[in-house]
Amino acid sequence: MKAAVFEAVGKLVIKDVEKPVLTRSTDALIKVKGVGICGTDLHILQDPPAHPAKMGNILGHEFTGEIVELGEDVYGYSVGERVLIDPHPGCGVCDECRRGFPDNCIPLYAQCEEPGHPDTIGIFSPGAYTSYVIVPRQSLYKIDPKVPVEIAALAEPLSCVINAVDKLQVQPGEFVVILGGGPIGLLFTMLMKANGASKIIVSEPAEFRRKAALDCGADLVVDPKQESLEEVVAREMGAGADVCIEAVGPLLPTAVRVVRAGGRVLQFGHDETVNPELPIGVFLKKEVVIYGAFIGKRSFEKTIRVMESGKLPLEKVVSHTMPLEDIHKGIAMLRRGEGLKIIIMPN
Ligand SMILES: [Zn+2]
Ligand SMILES: [Zn+2]
Repeated sequence: MKAAVFEAVGKLVIKDVEKPVLTRSTDALIKVKGVGICGTDLHILQDPPAHPAKMGNILGHEFTGEIVELGEDVYGYSVGERVLIDPHPGCGVCDECRRGFPDNCIPLYAQCEEPGHPDTIGIFSPGAYTSYVIVPRQSLYKIDPKVPVEIAALAEPLSCVINAVDKLQVQPGEFVVILGGGPIGLLFTMLMKANGASKIIVSEPAEFRRKAALDCGADLVVDPKQESLEEVVAREMGAGADVCIEAVGPLLPTAVRVVRAGGRVLQFGHDETVNPELPIGVFLKKEVVIYGAFIGKRSFEKTIRVMESGKLPLEKVVSHTMPLEDIHKGIAMLRRGEGLKIIIMPN
């Protein structure tokens, strides 16, 4: 089968690999139906990489598929069922998993070659930019097959966003600023609108994405290369936003500046090559609260309900679907800010 492999720094190569064979009784073999290209993949493929990943690994962690074979200890599922995959299979037994913090599962982030050791699928263990993937039973979630593949493939990013929204507790009437109008910024925009935010400003340099943000519920969009976001926020929101969501990576200082006193900032953009300097005086005088949010293992159930209910226009986040052979084209489009979520259909 063909697979897109992280071959060397900055290099993703499509090559022939062996179809995986089920060896552990607690795993399932999944036929991939759809897999989203993530901003994390772009970060992994940067030179130098802005996100760690295992060299030689098949990438692709945001996927949905169909069960083709089940290990004898995978119960509650059957062959042919549509599933979504939580690509972060926590161990369930380490201190952080038992404390209720499975997103920070200790062995999951201690990279290890031991068989059966949990690893993030599509980053440190073989992922879904191919036809078949083996996943452990704790990564499986059922999804109604009526949910279109390209929507179901949004499960992992949506679960991360729902986890972050839980922390912010946005109240009806609040002012929200979102930095970044990529797929993540757009999912935040929809959820902030659903939570009753009275005004949402999205700051995004790419015109294509600013249009999409308006379509997803933003009240105003700003091109930060053309105008000062701080001035627009002062004009539109007076003392500042109640909440600012950083969905880019290096913009924490901007987020701290645009919130009002007591404002909440959420750092979601994940770029490990940047270390922005916090404006300490602004941060402490305004008594800003900064949240970090990472993945969302505990949000999958809610994510599935959101998808199955059809209440959010999630289709607006998906700009293209393409075959695996076109993955480099998709990545190039995303780098130019010309696409939103691009779903690869490998089968
Ligand atoms: Zn992702
Ligand atoms: Zn654990």
